Amino acid sequence: MKYDTVIIGAGMSGLSAGVRLAYYEKKVCILERHTTIGGLNSFYRLRKRNYDVGLHAITNYAEPGTKQGPLSKLLRQLRMTWEDFDLRPQLRSSIVFPDCRLHFTNQFSVFVDQVAAAFPSQIDGFRRLVQRIAEHDALNLDRQVVSARQVVSEYIRDPLLVDMIFCPLMFYGSATPRDMDFSQFVIMFKSIFHEGFGRPFEGIRLILKKLVRHFRSLGGDLRLRAGVREISHTNGRATSVTLDDGTEIEADNILSSAGAAETLRMISPGSPPVKAEPGDISFVESISVLDCAPADLGHRDTIVFYSDSPAFHYERPSEPVDLRSGIICSPNNFDYSEPLEDGRIRITALANPHHWMNLPDDQYVAEKDRWNDRIIDSAVKHIPEFRSHVIDTDVFTPRTIRRFTGHLNGCVYGAPEKFVNGQTPLSNLFLCGTDQGFLGIVGAMLSGITIANRHLLK
Ligand SMILES: Cc1cc2nc3c(=O)[nH]c(=O)nc-3n(C[C@H](O)[C@H](O)[C@H](O)COP(=O)(O)OP(=O)(O)OC[C@H]3O[C@@H](n4cnc5c(N)ncnc54)[C@H](O)[C@@H]3O)c2cc1C
Repeated sequence: MKYDTVIIGAGMSGLSAGVRLAYYEKKVCILERHTTIGGLNSFYRLRKRNYDVGLHAITNYAEPGTKQGPLSKLLRQLRMTWEDFDLRPQLRSSIVFPDCRLHFTNQFSVFVDQVAAAFPSQIDGFRRLVQRIAEHDALNLDRQVVSARQVVSEYIRDPLLVDMIFCPLMFYGSATPRDMDFSQFVIMFKSIFHEGFGRPFEGIRLILKKLVRHFRSLGGDLRLRAGVREISHTNGRATSVTLDDGTEIEADNILSSAGAAETLRMISPGSPPVKAEPGDISFVESISVLDCAPADLGHRDTIVFYSDSPAFHYERPSEPVDLRSGIICSPNNFDYSEPLEDGRIRITALANPHHWMNLPDDQYVAEKDRWNDRIIDSAVKHIPEFRSHVIDTDVFTPRTIRRFTGHLNGCVYGAPEKFVNGQTPLSNLFLCGTDQGFLGIVGAMLSGITIANRHLLK
């Protein structure tokens, strides 16, 4: 069978692009190598409990019915409803550095007041930075890369405040170490500080299942266990994909969410060479299931971003895990109408992918346990001691991410250099998702929609 578009990958971006194209009656097939949907944002069941892979919080929170902003745009473009996402707002999050703590909620004024109280000499500059952010067109696909640290330092002189602002923005959306592109900074600033966090009561599976149901109801085909091995081409145009089992599928266009380096490696020999280096920013995540709610232990924050040193280090660590900083997320601490089934504490820290990829199999499990203990040791400096309440644990590493998504280096935010306009050396092969450049859950969905609109629905 021949399709209008074949989409590689059933993560957030691939599924969103699929819905958008199927809505316009395009014949679309999504091919996914894994046995399930979701990619970096999937879900699984382990020892009779449900887990999310990559959900701390959905950024860009908006109250149901809101007309402006990325979330309402996304829902409109996908013809989905606020109920399909069922988002509940965060309670409160914190950025914790030595001797300084800033809280923020989904009300931006709370953050402004916190900055004013903790950094009175910087508040005027901070307000001018907020104005600059409001005026910047971060979604311009023809944008130039500009250092965000350079721009921010024009407004804020105190390095501690600079790093406290960068910490959550980089943790939740920087493919580059130490600094980020100013447009990406603006996207993340708005999505975290202006709009804030929400989470569906049932976790990410709710949104994923709605997307798939919607896609199929519009006539789309979704094939699992259907990894793409090769993309064939003639005269600068992709013609078909070959699956791992040798099946060939023809398509007028191909849209890949597998990553830039990963996709270019699939192109059969003879295409013009284009450089795409995979990134190496990855994480280890420790998930503890508790016999009580974190609030019962006195922990009410939704997310805590911490750094034990005044200078925030965001780069591939030389150690297996960077214990100097991390993210502590409690999925319980959202504004639900009823409590979640069990208590959870998720702790995420930067990891060295090369260490985890190269470990011999017989050392891997012991190494995960060892570093899990150390990650928790460093996190309990910032939240109440919870270890006597742990009834189950799961840990994943860059190696897990590589295994289940195919991302080289188990890289979460993709290549440092993005393909912002989605184009590749083949005129009808496009990229969406992580390596197009819109990151995170909402970013990936908007990326799928944007590239579908720009190149496949003209
Ligand atoms: C631990 C963790 C926590 C996170 N927390 C958050 C958070 O709280 N909030 C947030 O907004 N974002 C979060 N993210 C990031 C977010 O999950 C991702 O940015 C987003 O899901 C990326 O979606 P994507 O579609 O671009 O890519 P992916 O999800 O990677 O989708 C690509 C898909 O392509 C498939 N694939 C690859 N190669 C092939 C092939 N050859 N053939 C067929 N299929 C193939 C993969 O299996 C995968 O399913 C987190 C990520 C992680 C890992």
